[in-house]
Amino acid sequence: MHLLSEVDTVLLDMDGTLLDLHYDNHFWLEFVPSQYAQKLQIPLAEAESHVFAQYAKVSGQLDWYCYDHWSKTFGLDIHELQHKTKHKIQVRSDTLWFLERLRQLNKRVVILTNAHRSGIDVKMQETGISRYFDEIVSSHDYQAAKEAPHFWSSVESELKLDLSRCLFIDDSEKILKAAEQAGVAYLCGIATPDSTKAAQNMRDFKVIKLFSELL
Ligand SMILES: [Mg+2]
Repeated sequence: MHLLSEVDTVLLDMDGTLLDLHYDNHFWLEFVPSQYAQKLQIPLAEAESHVFAQYAKVSGQLDWYCYDHWSKTFGLDIHELQHKTKHKIQVRSDTLWFLERLRQLNKRVVILTNAHRSGIDVKMQETGISRYFDEIVSSHDYQAAKEAPHFWSSVESELKLDLSRCLFIDDSEKILKAAEQAGVAYLCGIATPDSTKAAQNMRDFKVIKLFSELL
């Protein structure tokens, strides 16, 4: 793929692609269970097994990404908890460099995320990167997660995208598959979405550690 000549629009996932997934892993796998244990006055292990079982029920569906769903399910104010931990939100190592570069190259740059609007707002405030994007799309706007074909057909028509000239970058292989099936021409995975974890590989897609590998 030649980013300069073959791509007009760069579609970017947010969590794990632009931003370090360490924040979300910490929030959902550690902070939420600990808050739940505190609220119910139960041991942490018990809270974890309950919370993780609830996650498993809606994995890959829009509810997984919906703060209102989790606020209701756990009786916790997820929006407020997110504000309490927002100082941990970080961009990945060469995100700012890449966004600057895309701007210089005059590409249309769009975030496509499964994150809830309230999460997007906190993350944009903390990182100050919203000015780099022509559009920021949440799958909640279309009532369909990025894993679903309906999301892609909606985005394609709404944003008038020529998918044959789009590059999409995401840290989820399942989501890259959905994009491929929808007709997105250029696809790329992220090897290190969480800076504290070992690199991942993907069976069907090229993965990068740094955006500079694309240029
Ligand atoms: Mg992601």
